[in-house]
Amino acid sequence: MKIPLIIGNWKMNLLSSEAANIAKAIQDFSKNIPNVNVILAPPFTSLHTVKQILLNSNVSLACQNFYFKQKGAYTGEVSIEMVKDAGCQYAIVGHSERRKLFNESNEIINKKLVCAVKNDIRVVLCVGENQVQRNKGKTFEIIETQVQQALTNISSKELENICIAYEPVWAIGTGVNASVNQVEEVHDFIRKIIKKIANDKNFYCNVLYGGSVNSQNCKDFLLCKEVEGVLVGGASLDINSFCDIISTASTI
Ligand code: PEP
Repeated sequence: MKIPLIIGNWKMNLLSSEAANIAKAIQDFSKNIPNVNVILAPPFTSLHTVKQILLNSNVSLACQNFYFKQKGAYTGEVSIEMVKDAGCQYAIVGHSERRKLFNESNEIINKKLVCAVKNDIRVVLCVGENQVQRNKGKTFEIIETQVQQALTNISSKELENICIAYEPVWAIGTGVNASVNQVEEVHDFIRKIIKKIANDKNFYCNVLYGGSVNSQNCKDFLLCKEVEGVLVGGASLDINSFCDIISTASTI
C-alpha cells in the first residue's frame, strides 16, 4: 500500500503567528489520518515555532534551504546542523526558484545533497525542465543531467533517504499543471535513472509531482501508479485546500 507524501512548501510567506495558526490546523487535521505522510516546509524564521506545534504529531518538518558548509564566516547562511537543531527531518534541495533566482548549479545542489544525507536529513530533490527546454524536446536530457549530477557520490544506501520531486518549472505557481501523461512518462524515466545509479533493477525511489497542485487536481496525480505524493506551494498556504489534499491522499 502506498503512503502518500504530501509536502507543503510555504516559500517566503507567513510571519510566525500565521505559520503557527496553519501548522496547528494541519497538525490537528492530520491526527486522525495515519496513512498519509505530511511534511511542512516553513521559512527559517518559523521553524522553531512550528517545531513546537508538531512535537509528538505525525507531521514532519522540512527546511526549504541550507548551506553545505559546516560553520564559519558565511554571513546570512544556515547550516544543516542548525536546521536539524531547529527540528527538521527533511530538506528541500534544488527547488527551481533557488536554481533560477539564486544561481544554484547542479554542482552546488550535489554538495547540499551530500551534506544533508551525511547528517541524516532526508532530502526532497527537485528537478524539472523549463518551458523553452520542453518546447525544444529537451525534457528528458535536462532531467537526466539534473538527477545524475545531483546524485554524484551518493551511495545506494544513502539513496534510500532521497525522494525526487518532478516539478516542471512552467507549472510552478502558474496555475497550469502538467498532464497526468506528462507526469507519468517523466516519473517512469526518473525511476529508470535511479535504478541505474543504484545499480539495482528493483530499487524503488519515491517520486512526487509538484506544479500548481490544488484540492481539485490532486486526485488525478495521486491516483497515478508512478506518483508517490505531491509537493504543494500556493495551495499549502490555505488551510482548507491543504487539508482537502491530505484528505484526498488518505483515500487513495
Ligand atoms: C512549489 O513550490 O514547489 C510549487 C510546486 O508551487 P505551486 O504549487 O504554487 O505551483
